[in-house]
Amino acid sequence: MVVCRAGEVIPELVGRVDDEADGSAPFVPPTLCPRGHDLDRSGLIWRCTTGRACAIGAGIRYAVSRDCLDIDGMGEVIVDALVASGAVNDVADLFELTASKLMAVERLGEANAAKILEGIERAKTLPLGRIIAALGIKGTGRSMSRRLASHFGSMAALQAASIDELAGVDGIGPVKAPAIVDELAALAPVIDRLETIGVDLGGTGGVASDEPGGPGHAAERPLAGLAVCVTGAMTGPLASLSRDEVNELIERLGGRASSSVSTKTSFLLTADGDSGTGKAKKAAELGVEVVSPETFAERYL
Ligand SMILES: [Zn+2]
Repeated sequence: MVVCRAGEVIPELVGRVDDEADGSAPFVPPTLCPRGHDLDRSGLIWRCTTGRACAIGAGIRYAVSRDCLDIDGMGEVIVDALVASGAVNDVADLFELTASKLMAVERLGEANAAKILEGIERAKTLPLGRIIAALGIKGTGRSMSRRLASHFGSMAALQAASIDELAGVDGIGPVKAPAIVDELAALAPVIDRLETIGVDLGGTGGVASDEPGGPGHAAERPLAGLAVCVTGAMTGPLASLSRDEVNELIERLGGRASSSVSTKTSFLLTADGDSGTGKAKKAAELGVEVVSPETFAERYL
């Protein structure tokens, strides 16, 4: 079939393309849903036989992953079993898991259940950006979630943000902003439950008040207005932090973590100095300052 754009957006069917003339393979309808489940083909619209659970599983698998809630021991098989049994339908349900709900999953022993519950407890105090990421708001990945957290400071402020306010956040703009507002409105019941459960939605999660970037330092945002790119493993005072945690620290200190070096980069944070990583070379070319973890700690922590 040849389809044209007509009258602005309405597609117009112009004519049939003969398979042989076109040389393309004939259309083969799918037999499984995109995630490999059987399809219910009894109606005009084919649906996955697992229903809503099909997409919930993917969302929950993302929510428990290392970059979101980082719940150790909660592999795909366990998530899928919890979703299939109806024990977990959304992110809030994760925080309401109990040992007995977990041990109802086939072959999940007491020790593993305890480990998962520990991870869930720990997730309650993660930085706000992680919780926002776990909600799986369309159009917001990890770095956008961190940016939203550092821009608004709390889930309540994010929820109260107008389309204009959201559109003003670097990287969102007028197209994404209304969609994010809609998503947040739809997620309101889940967010309410997270608050009731005691998940830290204040934006300072896991940071004690006397730590850098904590509430006691609310006025101190030494990296405000600076774009920082991080590369390589950290050393010295930052040695224990993963890349994501370093990026979170940068954003808590008011800076913006960027993934590449450009003329807009304020400095490159790396332990490798000018010993030859691609980013260090780029920084040298562009005259971007290279800062070691030790110097970073001295200046900003
Ligand atoms: Zn499916």
